[in-house]
Amino acid sequence: METRNYDVIIIGAGASGLMCTAALCNIDPSMKILVLEKNNKGGRKLLATGNGRCNFTNLDISTEAYNTDDVKRLINVLHAYSSKKIIDYFETKLGVIAAFKNDLVYPITYQSKTIADALLNAGRRAHFEYDTKVTSIVKKGMGYCVNGKYEADNIVIASGGVSYPDTGSDGSLLPVIKELAGASSLEKLLPSLVPLKTSDKDVKKLAGLRQECTIRMGSYIQNGEVQFTDYGISGICVMQLSGIYNRACSSGESIRSVSIDLIPSMDKKAKEEIISNLIKSFPEAPLEDAISGLLKKPIAKAVVDRSDKTAKGIAFVAGNFTVNLAGSMGFENAQVTSGGVKLSCLNDGLELLDKKGIYIIGEAVNVDGLCGGYNLHWAWASALTAAEAIVEECEGI
Ligand SMILES: Cc1cc2nc3c(=O)[nH]c(=O)nc-3n(C[C@H](O)[C@H](O)[C@H](O)COP(=O)(O)OP(=O)(O)OC[C@H]3O[C@@H](n4cnc5c(N)ncnc54)[C@H](O)[C@@H]3O)c2cc1C
Repeated sequence: METRNYDVIIIGAGASGLMCTAALCNIDPSMKILVLEKNNKGGRKLLATGNGRCNFTNLDISTEAYNTDDVKRLINVLHAYSSKKIIDYFETKLGVIAAFKNDLVYPITYQSKTIADALLNAGRRAHFEYDTKVTSIVKKGMGYCVNGKYEADNIVIASGGVSYPDTGSDGSLLPVIKELAGASSLEKLLPSLVPLKTSDKDVKKLAGLRQECTIRMGSYIQNGEVQFTDYGISGICVMQLSGIYNRACSSGESIRSVSIDLIPSMDKKAKEEIISNLIKSFPEAPLEDAISGLLKKPIAKAVVDRSDKTAKGIAFVAGNFTVNLAGSMGFENAQVTSGGVKLSCLNDGLELLDKKGIYIIGEAVNVDGLCGGYNLHWAWASALTAAEAIVEECEGI
């Protein structure tokens, strides 16, 4: 079979692959770049981000928001590509103007398509082959041969994780990555930013209700809106805890439940006082009716049913509503994959330590962040890091 030669082959036209393509086109317009993508178009997951609005970075980027095996290397990348740098890059190189909602950063159009189009436009000089699933990367001479057909000295693996597989990132490149990097270079894949299931029947009965809460899982605390569903609990504050939960379960640690304060605006004493007053004011009413101006009635009923029916007991349950956990909703519903190629197995340019010319970026790397623009920030920062390293390497030859 006749092979075609390129300087760089990028596998995956998702967030990180498109940014790497755009950056390489921008830094060195003479570079021959091929992008191989199994979908029939680029940026499918990107279009779904932030409910179609794309929260593309966060003003408060720090390693605390991430899970990884190599915090030092993560600091290097995040230090080189702060949120300010990413926002500037989007404005000056891609023509995308940012808008801010507290620390969350969006394109001013509040449309993911703006970001996807800008990246595709900036990378248009590259050659894109869609409907092309990569199934092999083998060493050939100084470089690599992909699918027995395309050759390049530098390969960028930007194939994502395994969450939301319908968007394309289905793990189909994992056997190839395992072969190249070695099985020990891979951190176990787990769903993160995912709703949690419960076995509690009374919680499932609350399906459809939302409640502003403080939610505690061991020493981890989140504030926000909990959404009760027919399988368990969802909402950003729940999803923020899900990576910790799944990693703990996977390593045999026992996190069995979360504790929810259903009235976080009141301390224990205030809750007790107001519940006591309500019960006194409506002595004839069933308890859940008496407190239904304080808690939505089905939630009030669940709280009363779990309590000893005294004001003190009801207040205690309302502040410490336990939800027993029974796993998560899995990769199909996870916004991000925890695990992947260990950051410690890559150098500062995100090249595999013992495979010169193989770069790994985005969600394929063992770096996952909280909700709030952190995951796309990593996709951009890792893509720009690898693009710079590749150009330096090519210029050094
Ligand atoms: C619903 C949802 C909402 C989200 N919202 C946000 C948000 O607002 N802010 C935020 O920061 N993050 C968000 N995320 C997370 C963010 O989208 C991802 O972290 C990010 O897209 C990862 O980029 P990536 O390039 O690594 O992978 P992807 O964007 O998944 O791209 C990987 C690409 O590789 C292709 N591919 C895979 N295997 C092969 C193969 N064998 N051959 C060829 N091509 C292949 C895939 O088809 C895909 O196009 C969200 C995720 C989801 C699911």
